[in-house]
Amino acid sequence: MNAPTELHDFSVAELAEQLRARKVSAVETAQHFLARAHANAGLGAFLDFNEEATLAQAQAADAMLAAGTPGAALLGVPVAHKDIFVTRDFAATAGSKMLKGYRSPFDATVVARLAEQGAVTLGKLNCDEFAMGSANENSAFGPVKNPWDQTRVPGGSSGGSAAAVAARLVPAATGTDTGGSIRQPASFCGITGIKPTYGRASRYGMVAFASSLDQAGPLARSAEDCALLLSAMCGPDLDRDSTSLDVPAENFARNLDDSLAGLRIGVPAEFFGEGLATDVRAAVDAALKEYEKLGAKLVPITLPRTELSIPVYYVIAPAEASSNLSRFDGVKFGHRAEQYSDLIDMYKKTRSQGFGDEVKRRIMIGTYVLSHGYYDAYYLQAQRIRRMIADDFQQAFQQCDLIAGPVAPSVAWKLGDKSDDPLASYLADIFTLPASLAGLPGMSIPVGFGAENMPVGMQLIANYLQESRLLNAAHRFQQASDWHLAKPEGF
Ligand code: GLN
Repeated sequence: MNAPTELHDFSVAELAEQLRARKVSAVETAQHFLARAHANAGLGAFLDFNEEATLAQAQAADAMLAAGTPGAALLGVPVAHKDIFVTRDFAATAGSKMLKGYRSPFDATVVARLAEQGAVTLGKLNCDEFAMGSANENSAFGPVKNPWDQTRVPGGSSGGSAAAVAARLVPAATGTDTGGSIRQPASFCGITGIKPTYGRASRYGMVAFASSLDQAGPLARSAEDCALLLSAMCGPDLDRDSTSLDVPAENFARNLDDSLAGLRIGVPAEFFGEGLATDVRAAVDAALKEYEKLGAKLVPITLPRTELSIPVYYVIAPAEASSNLSRFDGVKFGHRAEQYSDLIDMYKKTRSQGFGDEVKRRIMIGTYVLSHGYYDAYYLQAQRIRRMIADDFQQAFQQCDLIAGPVAPSVAWKLGDKSDDPLASYLADIFTLPASLAGLPGMSIPVGFGAENMPVGMQLIANYLQESRLLNAAHRFQQASDWHLAKPEGF
């Protein structure tokens, strides 16, 4: 492979190196990516810029680079944040009219930690409203287009993040994954994404959707780049996030090159059933063969409650969402209806104007399953099955070190195809929900192309806190293949 000549083709690792060697400045880099982001505004990936703030950060990085300040791994590297993270210098809308133009007085922990490592914030990225969706069509600010085929969805809810990285508008981005929202858009856009173990990345400053599931993680082109970002993003934040794990930050890039000889990869029968499109299956099967060549052993396993993950998730996530979203009442912050007769009327009008259809649907489902008389039948029952799903994984991990399968049953669908059919969209989450419900780390790596030349992703799932094992397996695969280097035409 020849070294890239255009700035936007450099990986995060290569770009950091170019910056350290002072072959390019952080300001030039930021300007280059800002210009690309503006030139490709038609994708709908970005929601907000603050050029002044971006360039000020880049200048600070240049000063540190000039002084030869060691340490900061991402010094001068542009990243962009899913608009679910609150930011001081940029609006944070969570893709909702409810928070249009909202500016937070502080940065989310993940945003602050990336900045501490020298990352320069390029802007904020479109997403489904309150991260609810699988196609980025639920954003109040319009859909995002898939750079591989602009008549198709980029996946969701981190659709802006995935599209921007795939189109080389930014070298890497943050996302959040509640039920698949990092893995699935990464898969649909042919890039790499990882969701760490629940509790590893702080949720402080992440607009809450379903608090027991929400996790932040990076989307980038390669596992190596994801490792660099994830190392900055993770680590305890005990004072600010009550579910933050007291596990020290880690350098996830440290064993990327380890051999895969003897690695046992579990292949769950339930992930390869009837609903899986043949093109996706073919690409995933070929990737599994490649893993065998790299020394891994495939072990047939079973995750018997895979199908139940859909009803379980679509009870628990809306239940938590209905509670989390009660804070948007027109009093404390966000949108407030202009005309109303009394307080109750103000609440009603504010919330009916501020929230989109999918969010309202989930608030209604959530309120219903938590209500007296139904709580036991739905919410408690879902919690019980959630525990069993987590136990199934522990059974499986007695026979294997990693689990592999498809990320989604099909490649990216056409814009509008499932937007009137929420159930069809929920069903497409079947392979990402189990790891989310269990709180396990999962990732998506590009493994080929399916119908209409759309990217296919493979999912890798590891046991708790074994992100480095995931990244190692992904990296070795990416050294042996070049699916992650493929680039959509015109970008
Ligand atoms: N598609 C799932 C949903 O709509 C997952 C979203 C997410 O992970 N944020 O809830």
